[in-house]
Amino acid sequence: MTHARERQVAVEAVTQAAQICAGVRAEMVGAAFVQKDDRSPVTIADFSAQALICQRLSEAFPSDAIVAEEDATELRKHENAGTLDVVARYVRLALPEATRRDICHWIDLGTSQPADRFWTLDPIDGTKGFLRNDQYAVALALIEHGQVKLGALACPALPSGGAQGPGVLFVAVRGAGAFMAPLAGGPEMPIRVAYDGAARRFVESVEAGHGDHALQEAVARAAGIEQPPLRMDSQAKYGAVARGDAALYLRLPSPKSPGYRENIWDHAAGALIVEEAGGRVSDMYGAPLDFGAGTKLHANRGVVVSNGALHDAVIAALMQRSVSHPV
Ligand code: AMP
Ligand code: MG
Repeated sequence: MTHARERQVAVEAVTQAAQICAGVRAEMVGAAFVQKDDRSPVTIADFSAQALICQRLSEAFPSDAIVAEEDATELRKHENAGTLDVVARYVRLALPEATRRDICHWIDLGTSQPADRFWTLDPIDGTKGFLRNDQYAVALALIEHGQVKLGALACPALPSGGAQGPGVLFVAVRGAGAFMAPLAGGPEMPIRVAYDGAARRFVESVEAGHGDHALQEAVARAAGIEQPPLRMDSQAKYGAVARGDAALYLRLPSPKSPGYRENIWDHAAGALIVEEAGGRVSDMYGAPLDFGAGTKLHANRGVVVSNGALHDAVIAALMQRSVSHPV
C-alpha cells in the first residue's frame, strides 16, 4: 500500500489526541473555553490535540506543511498563562518533556499555507458538540496536488458496537479501501456504505446555522427518505454514511450565511473515508469537492455525501429546487 508510514503516523496521532480530548471532557475542563473572533468556541482540548498532532507530524515528516484550524496567538498572551498551563498538563500525558514554549511552537506549525503536499487538521471538529457532550471528531488528512490521499478520523463518542465502550477510528488511503476500529484498540474492519433498512435515513448538523434543515428535509424526502434526520455534530456524519448507519449526509448553505465557504479541514478526511467505503461526495451541484483551491472549498457550494445509489436523485432534486426557487 502507498502511504503506509503516513497512515501509521496519522492513526497514532489522532488516536492519542482523541484520548486527550476524552480526558479533558471527562474532567469537565472543556468548559473553560475562549471565544475566537468569529464567535466560535475553542477549548483546552483543541489546543492540546493540535499541539500533539503537529509535533508527531513534524517529527515524522519535517518538510510537510500543516494547515490546521487553530493557532497559539491567544495562548501566548500573558493573561492566558493559566490556560496554557492546563494545556501543558494534558500534552505532557503524551509528551512528558514538553515545555509551554514547545507547545505554542507546535500549535503554530499548523499555520502553514497549502502546498503541493500538506496535512490538514481539525483538532476538534464539532467543538460545540464536544461542549454539549455530543459527537465530535479529531480529523486529519493528507492532500497531494489537490487530491486527498489519506484520511484519519477519530470519533470518541460514536458507538463502537464493541465491549470497550464508545469511540471509533476511521481510516482510508486512496485506492486501498476504508476501515474502522475501536478507538480503544482492536482489529481494523473494512467498511462499506449501505442501501437498505436503517441506512434509509439521513444525517445533518445539530447546529441549524450550519445548514438548511428545511431544505435538507425536503430534498431527502424527494430522494425517498421518509425517516426524520439523525442530527450529529462533526465529521462523525461522514463516518455514519461510510459504515452504513445512514445513506445520506446533507449540508446545504444556511440562509443565514449564504456566502459561507466550507473549510478544507471540515471535509477532507471524511470525504475520502466515504469514497473509499463505496459512497459519493460532491457539492450541491454535483461537482467534486476541490481541495486544491486554498484553505476553503472556494469552488464549491454545499456538500452532498451519499451511499452512491442515492446521489443522482439528490442532485436532481436540488436542481429542480433551484429552478423553481432561484437563489
Ligand atoms: P457540524 O458539526 O457538522 O455542524 O460542523 C462544524 C463545523 O461547521 C465547524 O468546524 C465550522 O468550521 C463549520 N461552520 C461554521 N459556520 C458554518 C456555516 N455558517 N455553515 C456551515 N458550516 C459552518
Ligand atoms: Mg471543524
